[in-house]
Amino acid sequence: MTAVPSSPEIVEAVRRQRAYLLDTLGRFVDVASLSGQEQAAADFMEARLGDLGLKSERIHLDTDALSGLPLYSPRCCPDGGRYNLLAVHEPRHETGRSVLFNGHLDVVPTGPEALWARPPFQSHVDGDWLFGRGAGDMKAGIVCTLAALKTLQSLGLQPAGRVGFNAVLEEECTGNGALASVSALRRSINAGKLAAFDVVLIPEPGGERLIAAQMGVLWLEIRITGRPAHAAVMTQGASAIDAAIAVIADLKLLEAEWNAPAARHPVYRDHAHPINFNIGQIHGGEWNSSVPCMCTIGVRIGFYPDRSVDSAATEVEKRVRAAIARLDSDLSLTIRGEGFRAPGCEFDLDGDGIQALDRANASVHGTRIKRHAITATTDARHFKLMLDTPVTCFGPEARNIHGIDESVSIESILRVTTTFAQFLVDWCGVEPLEPRGP
Ligand SMILES: [Zn+2]
Repeated sequence: MTAVPSSPEIVEAVRRQRAYLLDTLGRFVDVASLSGQEQAAADFMEARLGDLGLKSERIHLDTDALSGLPLYSPRCCPDGGRYNLLAVHEPRHETGRSVLFNGHLDVVPTGPEALWARPPFQSHVDGDWLFGRGAGDMKAGIVCTLAALKTLQSLGLQPAGRVGFNAVLEEECTGNGALASVSALRRSINAGKLAAFDVVLIPEPGGERLIAAQMGVLWLEIRITGRPAHAAVMTQGASAIDAAIAVIADLKLLEAEWNAPAARHPVYRDHAHPINFNIGQIHGGEWNSSVPCMCTIGVRIGFYPDRSVDSAATEVEKRVRAAIARLDSDLSLTIRGEGFRAPGCEFDLDGDGIQALDRANASVHGTRIKRHAITATTDARHFKLMLDTPVTCFGPEARNIHGIDESVSIESILRVTTTFAQFLVDWCGVEPLEPRGP
């Protein structure tokens, strides 16, 4: 019988991984990996998995091949030979249950670099916080999963169940990276080449809470064409920018309707502002003295988990068309879907795997994990809706994700790693570490 480490031993062993955690996370953040440009981060991840004795399979993104699937989102970036990684620890004697850790490699744009205290892709530590774009969302969480396995290895142990590490592309704009991974998993499972994972954990930066629900998210590009004229005779023209302002005002009214208490999905009853229509981009006009002919707005629409993408899209499009129809008849409109077409989801947190995570957290930290419904989307939807696997997100506390001076709490990283290490021991069991070649 392999001796099972006690919770205090696990806490101590994770503390000894502090330098590994900070060094690995710092270097990972320094590898810029905007959506569509994740290759360097994939290389980094493949090497770190290799350090732990894990060989990665590359799952290439072929967006066209995904286009028939219900969770497909229209492409934002060219495929360009990019790939996800999947590495699976295989125990010598499989006696325990399995888990798949999933995380996204991509990070969102930095905004004006001049606003950052230090350049966004030069990580640095200040007090308890490690700074840099992607530090919180979500490179820290990924590093926690690696460090949990490394902690067991440092004790001469390895999980006695399969542990998968899946690093994916494009979580921040389409989710097609996770969709490609899940499709490949489903094919392997159907072909009997791989057993299904018992639970999937995604260490998104949720402040050490489990997500119970996530919003649906839809991206739309609204392109308005008007009639140009000299500004001196402005009323002879039809301004695409004035029309866009009217469209935005109407969208904000619809947002308020969906946020109204009576319209709310029950899990979002106590949120301050669950539905968010974000006007993320606006481009238009050519010249201060010409009535603008073109204006394009890029919007992100949130919607409740009990409605379909199509029904949300139809209602939004109807509102936009009605706004334009009230204005000049020379205005024309095209609405294109590009990026997210992500349905919302609720997650069952009472199954064995997630309960085991909760108990592991109680063993090492003495507290049960809080739950929350988030107003964003995550890749958890793919595992729930395509594989019907129990899934949730649980990751460290971060600040200013998608903002300026993003950072993640180092103490929180250590706590999450400790919970994951205890979870691996409890859920997968342990066996002596397999000796590795030179
Ligand atoms: Zn994220």
